[in-house]
Amino acid sequence: MDKLDLVGIGIGPFNLSLAAQLDGISDVKSAFLDQKAEFAWHPDMMLPGVELQTSFLKDLVTLTNPTSKWSFLAYIVNQKRMLDFMNADFAAVPRREFAAYLKWVAGHLDGLIFGNAVREVAFDGKDFQVCSDRGVYTAKNLAVGIGKPAFVPNWARHLPTEKCFHTSQAKSRLPDLRGKRVAVIGGGQSGAELVEYLLGGNRDSVEEVLWLSRRDNFEPLDDTPFVNEYFTPGYADVFANLPDDRKQELMSRQKLASDGASLSTLKSIYQLIYRQRYLDEGDVVGRLLPQREVFQVQYDGEDFRIAARNGLNQVVEFFHADALILATGYETALPEFMAPLRARLEEGVSGAYRLDANFRACWDGPADRGIFVQNAGRIDLGIFEPQLSLMAWRSAKIVNALLGQDVFDLEQNPPIVDWLANGTSMAGDAVVQAWG
Ligand SMILES: Cc1cc2nc3c(=O)[nH]c(=O)nc-3n(C[C@H](O)[C@H](O)[C@H](O)COP(=O)(O)OP(=O)(O)OC[C@H]3O[C@@H](n4cnc5c(N)ncnc54)[C@H](O)[C@@H]3O)c2cc1C
Repeated sequence: MDKLDLVGIGIGPFNLSLAAQLDGISDVKSAFLDQKAEFAWHPDMMLPGVELQTSFLKDLVTLTNPTSKWSFLAYIVNQKRMLDFMNADFAAVPRREFAAYLKWVAGHLDGLIFGNAVREVAFDGKDFQVCSDRGVYTAKNLAVGIGKPAFVPNWARHLPTEKCFHTSQAKSRLPDLRGKRVAVIGGGQSGAELVEYLLGGNRDSVEEVLWLSRRDNFEPLDDTPFVNEYFTPGYADVFANLPDDRKQELMSRQKLASDGASLSTLKSIYQLIYRQRYLDEGDVVGRLLPQREVFQVQYDGEDFRIAARNGLNQVVEFFHADALILATGYETALPEFMAPLRARLEEGVSGAYRLDANFRACWDGPADRGIFVQNAGRIDLGIFEPQLSLMAWRSAKIVNALLGQDVFDLEQNPPIVDWLANGTSMAGDAVVQAWG
């Protein structure tokens, strides 16, 4: 195989955005590889009625390349439903629609190879050698976009996987839960979507749903204008230059900017419980249990006994269920296939990689051989990093860095919020002005 300028590993939305931004740039030879047989966006969380938490304008390209033929609106026009889409006036676009858009783009771009898992990446002193199921690719640069592995807490690791599973496998496992008492553990959007679905008394109807979360309450995503400033290049530039300990502190305070449940989902859950309790509608019993930090689960062959500490009074409480769904999120870890390069990579605060402001991993290899990584720098680079919001901007930045020129004009107006006053350094030392 010919030497490539770039091999993309993984084709989720983030590397798909990079492939879409590279489309039409003739002097870049690239290939993108994915282990799946075809493109699919979180298929096991595609429950009926789920919605995008982000504007559809934050698609693969529009932020930096609004005339691209790979925008969400180009897809809607191609499907001949622009006016219907406008008339439907969705407050939030159905996730199924956005997934269909992504799949449409993936089906039309050249150089995307599915059914091809990457097994190992090595560096031969000059170039990267990417060993995949369908052969070895030689590349000057890499773009790693493999998403994140599911996070399974320690207390769940010994439990039987047929009855205790992560949300990332939920949809295909739901039919097994019919007539069961199900505990959903985790108070973010995935947990909320499952609770809403299970309480809704669908055809796989369960008997009881317990929703446990260590959060203070079931809290909504903060989608207000000043919080949305965190999802702008202006804030990203400020954040990337902060000291590591400051980043960590800020990140824990910004949780609800990206990790709360949608208001519409929370309202729906409340209404379902109300209807069941007061109007005799629906048979599924729901129990809402915030402030519960699960720390131990025992399984006797039939019944799970869940031990949780109540954050209000520190009392340990016990709950029983026939099945557990772990809505415990995702973690950042260096993938196995990067093991040959592990010792050469600098570790960042997010774990795995330390990324520079161009999303390039810091490593001890030649400066003209880059390892770009998407979705692995939440604490190093900011809360926007695991979200769709800035993906088109990020991939444009990667293209500029890859080519060493401003293919995309990323110049922005100064942020609406003055995050740092002019003349103030990141460490907060005001520059002393000399009065003439
Ligand atoms: C259910 C759900 C809903 C979400 N909704 C929103 C939303 O509305 N708004 C928002 O801003 N964010 C949302 N997110 C967060 C984020 O946008 C998504 O997780 C997004 O899919 C991340 O894209 P990605 O490309 O990094 O990873 P992924 O979508 O996980 O894709 C990674 C790809 O890499 C492939 N891969 C992995 N290992 C290998 C290998 N060794 N070789 C080859 N291929 C490999 C996988 O098969 C996969 O196709 C959501 C997340 C989830 C879980």
